[in-house]
Amino acid sequence: MNAPLPKQATESAANMYEQVSHNFNEVAGKLASRLRSETQGEVLFGAADRGRYATDASIYQVQPVGVFVPRFAHEVSTAMAICRDLGVPIVPRGGGTSQCGQTTGAGLVIDHTKHIRNVLALDVEKRTVEVEPGMVLDHLNASLKKHGLWFPVDVSTSAQATLGGMAGNNSCGSRSIAYGNMVHNVLGAKAWLSDGTAINMGLFDQSTGRAKAIGEFVQQLATQLKPELEAHWPKVLRRVAGYNLDIFHNQNEKPYTTDGSVNLAHLLVGSEGTLAMTQSLTLQLSELPLAKVLGVVNFPTFYQAMDAAQHIVKLGQGRLTAVELVDRTMIDLSLQNPAFAPTIRTALIGQPEAVLLVEFAGADKASLLPHMRQLVELMGDLGLPNSVVEMVDDAAQKNLWEVRKAGLNIMMSLKGDGKPVSFIEDCAVPLEHLAEYTDELTQVFKRHGTKGTWYAHASVGTLHVRPILDMRRDGAKRMRQIAEEASALVRKYKGAYSGEHGDGLCRGEWIEWQFGPQITQAFASIKQHLDPIQLLSPQRIVNPPKMDDTSLMRYGNRYQVIPLKTVLDWRVWDVQNDPATEQTTAPGTGGDPAQGFAKAVEMCNNNGTCRKFDAGTMCPSYRVTRDEQHLTRGRANTLRLALSGQLGKDALCGEEVQQAMDLCVGCKGCKRDCPTGVDMARMKIETTHQYKAKNGFTLKDRLISHLPRYAHLAAPWAGVLNLRNSMPWMARLAEKMTGLSAQRSWPKWHSDHFFNAAAQGVTREQVLQAAKPVVMFVDTFNGYFESENALAAMRVLKAAGYSVHVAIKEGLQNETGSKHLCCGRTYLANGMVDFAKAHAQELINALLPFAQKQIAIVGLEPSCLLTLRDEALVLGLGDAAHVVSQQAMLLEEFLARENKNKQLEVLKEKLKAAERPILLHGHCHQKAFGVMSPVMEVIQLIPKAKPELIESSCCGMAGSFGYEANHLEVSMQMAELSLLPAVRAKADAIVVADGTSCRHQIKDGANRDAIHVAQLLSQHLQ
Ligand SMILES: Cc1cc2nc3c(=O)[nH]c(=O)nc-3n(C[C@H](O)[C@H](O)[C@H](O)COP(=O)(O)OP(=O)(O)OC[C@H]3O[C@@H](n4cnc5c(N)ncnc54)[C@H](O)[C@@H]3O)c2cc1C
Ligand code: SF4
Ligand code: SF4
Repeated sequence: MNAPLPKQATESAANMYEQVSHNFNEVAGKLASRLRSETQGEVLFGAADRGRYATDASIYQVQPVGVFVPRFAHEVSTAMAICRDLGVPIVPRGGGTSQCGQTTGAGLVIDHTKHIRNVLALDVEKRTVEVEPGMVLDHLNASLKKHGLWFPVDVSTSAQATLGGMAGNNSCGSRSIAYGNMVHNVLGAKAWLSDGTAINMGLFDQSTGRAKAIGEFVQQLATQLKPELEAHWPKVLRRVAGYNLDIFHNQNEKPYTTDGSVNLAHLLVGSEGTLAMTQSLTLQLSELPLAKVLGVVNFPTFYQAMDAAQHIVKLGQGRLTAVELVDRTMIDLSLQNPAFAPTIRTALIGQPEAVLLVEFAGADKASLLPHMRQLVELMGDLGLPNSVVEMVDDAAQKNLWEVRKAGLNIMMSLKGDGKPVSFIEDCAVPLEHLAEYTDELTQVFKRHGTKGTWYAHASVGTLHVRPILDMRRDGAKRMRQIAEEASALVRKYKGAYSGEHGDGLCRGEWIEWQFGPQITQAFASIKQHLDPIQLLSPQRIVNPPKMDDTSLMRYGNRYQVIPLKTVLDWRVWDVQNDPATEQTTAPGTGGDPAQGFAKAVEMCNNNGTCRKFDAGTMCPSYRVTRDEQHLTRGRANTLRLALSGQLGKDALCGEEVQQAMDLCVGCKGCKRDCPTGVDMARMKIETTHQYKAKNGFTLKDRLISHLPRYAHLAAPWAGVLNLRNSMPWMARLAEKMTGLSAQRSWPKWHSDHFFNAAAQGVTREQVLQAAKPVVMFVDTFNGYFESENALAAMRVLKAAGYSVHVAIKEGLQNETGSKHLCCGRTYLANGMVDFAKAHAQELINALLPFAQKQIAIVGLEPSCLLTLRDEALVLGLGDAAHVVSQQAMLLEEFLARENKNKQLEVLKEKLKAAERPILLHGHCHQKAFGVMSPVMEVIQLIPKAKPELIESSCCGMAGSFGYEANHLEVSMQMAELSLLPAVRAKADAIVVADGTSCRHQIKDGANRDAIHVAQLLSQHLQ
């Protein structure tokens, strides 16, 4: 039987929000002008800015009045005072990764992440730290590592979640069984109440003034409601709904304090910004575990895995830190991915339906091994002997955790309008009921024609699952039906409906269902007591809207895409899917009026992974600006708003879209690093084309784009053209005319270059007959400006015994400079897609006969060669483009492949030992295509070479981007993030960089000559 329906909101929340927005618009001007005059923060009130902050990682969208990015902490309080005067509510925000709509609201959004992110005090002895709310968890932990400490609430979003947001949501990490939730680890909170009072929330028995009065008020409520608390409060570790009224009568499996004291800061934890604005948090730190071991338990059925969890958690004597589930779907997804298959195979015994990752952590591995043995014995007792893979090695463990994360990412990248939706994702049930609960919920999904993939925290009964729903069609209706049936199960098993991700818009209405009317009324009293003017996130937790109010949704019933004729082929995104099987329809059948472009853009689910700063490329422009606008997510949201008419008519060709795309360097970092594969570099080509088609091309656009066409005519004038680099007045004049910065040197022309040098390779006929054939595609840059690279590559290939043919334009067999081929990259970068297509067509025609014979086509410049494997496939060039793409590879990929096939023995004998350290910087497109390991392998062909890979994002040059005067500063900032400091730190190293623009940036920024890997190999030929 279904659970009783939750209370229906009496007033349509949509009407309420529209009313509030209307009133706000009248004061928006005043609000913006006061913020501008009374603070130094950023005041963002434009439609695109508001649209970008209207969403988070939930399904909801509510337009804020404006956005404020404070420069200094005290400006938060100033903004609160202004909002109080003008009657405008406030929505506090961290990384905006909430899954329930907590950070969407019709008020002033205050974004803490840009500046309010400092460590205020660290006490290593006492293991405490005081931080500002905008600090990101991983950044804090990186700074604590040297002290052997960490903050252990290890949420999956640790690279982008802020401590303020984590406290707001009472977040919980994978290791909560050992460390508890956020509430268990917060020692104090300084905050502002909506009336402007600064409060210091800490131990109740030491509190004074307003904090004490608040404590007494809540204590009185809790005392009155003791029987209600005992009757209705879920008795599990993972309960994050409502306010923590149980600080006075603990109901949690793990009391919030170890000594039974009451800490008033815990009242603010989980309050989702509705009670007070956090100014700082004092956190309890833990010792970093020095050793970990992982037991991977393989189960023949999912049910057995769930049933075993209750027994496994009793192991470890306090050393058990995680029991995480990976189900069959996830295993299959990982096995399908060539990068992850070898790792997941190391964890499998036979064909398990599920595995549990059981982690023990402590001071040393030896002391953990007995726990592993107990795990093995336990599984034997449970009838599953030989089911545990024992992983003691750190690297093996790390790789497996990475696979678990990646499996989820693949799941999230389902194409089509049906998406895995988070709304019952974190229900928590007591472990003894986990098997029945998951089994019954799976049946619920089946009844509703959908399915869910299960993963995550088996240790605490919080298994994540997202049924696939189509929110544009009947998703909202199904969501409610499933929620009601799921809630009935949660009630049956005495669990918590909201066990990790908070209430927000999605679960607020379930608070009364969970706690009953009296406790709900008590929550309302607490809100009234702390925020009587309803300044802070109104209608959240108390008096919330309905979860299925489609007018509050991103893809609500008014969402419509404007028809668009695209220049690139986006049909692969234009599909629909079957929620039960996840099968997608044929490309081009999804019904997207924007020919698939809108559906590609809509793949962004706002999870915020692009805000990370760790290894990987995504997203360099965000890393230097920390602006939502210059973030992959911000760009995807801007495009979605434009494509759906929410930024007005013709917005795709308007300035707001242009501004959002301006600092995108087209590095393709997102293509690889974004969990859902948002490919903003390709989107930039489409939008640049649309914009330029309407607004026209500049002189700079033409100068850069047509370079491959005029290079052969310009090269003979090298002496004259190079004067620009030695005569500052010419550089300044050129900047005025073209916008290309006078402070940059331009690539040097040579009248003698690769294309007019004596013929180097074998003929077309000879290569087609050769025993060891290879075809070189020499691009404009390595052909005209850095011929030595092309010559070096030829030397190396010849030394390895290959017959090398240099591809040239068909019908131009004479030795003129115009015979060279071009991939069209310069045209793509400037939106001249028709020219790009013509050049790519010419290149593919020339290469096709070789590709058809499966002869490798080798290139040197990553952005040019990889165009054949990327954009050339969406220019409408037919099957030929696919055939060529399969043979197109970078020199290093070719050599690494041949080495594996034992074809480089001759070459290896000719290489002399390396005498200097070697630093390697990867071009972004090399990283995006996962081809950095071949470069490392190839360098290691040189005896004694120990290449060191620089952990860098984009170098910042990115084709012509860094040459442009208006991008110079940002370009250099990108280079200074990690690349240039790493180069400077190793003065004696040879720097290897395969990208032309990377080499220029390294020269300009560090005054060092970087070389192509072809040159490195050639220099080591003896
Ligand atoms: C893919 C994915 C995985 C996730 N995994 C986990 C997980 O493992 N565990 C988990 O618990 N959650 C998880 N989440 C949810 C989310 O990431 C966490 O809740 C996270 O802690 C939110 O941090 P944030 O900085 O993005 O906060 P935001 O979303 O910006 O804000 C969270 C709440 O805090 C409030 N807030 C922010 N700053 C302040 C302030 N200064 N004063 C008062 N209130 C403030 C906001 O108003 C909001 O109510 C996941 C989300 C995604 C998308
Ligand atoms: S662009 Fe990708 S990583 Fe960024 S929020 Fe969107 S889906 Fe997440
Ligand atoms: S292509 Fe690069 S700069 Fe552009 S959004 Fe993606 S990661 Fe950011």
